[in-house]
Amino acid sequence: MGFCISCGQQHQDGIRFCRFCGTQQPGEQLLMRLRQEAEQIHYLRLQMQAAQQQQMAANNQFQQQPPRW
Ligand SMILES: [Zn+2]
Repeated sequence: MGFCISCGQQHQDGIRFCRFCGTQQPGEQLLMRLRQEAEQIHYLRLQMQAAQQQQMAANNQFQQQPPRW
């Protein structure tokens, strides 16, 4: 189920025009693409955070080691 982007009435998925106000609705493919892009950005952010944490942990280990000279 979806909601009209104009009047907010509930309507079935896959319709092109709202049957209440006639406003053209965004296509399912567009919605799916936007959803996928949002997920990709979410995963990229998680990966970056994990990489930063690993780097910080590596830096801490390096600092805890006594100097070699
Ligand atoms: Zn509508």
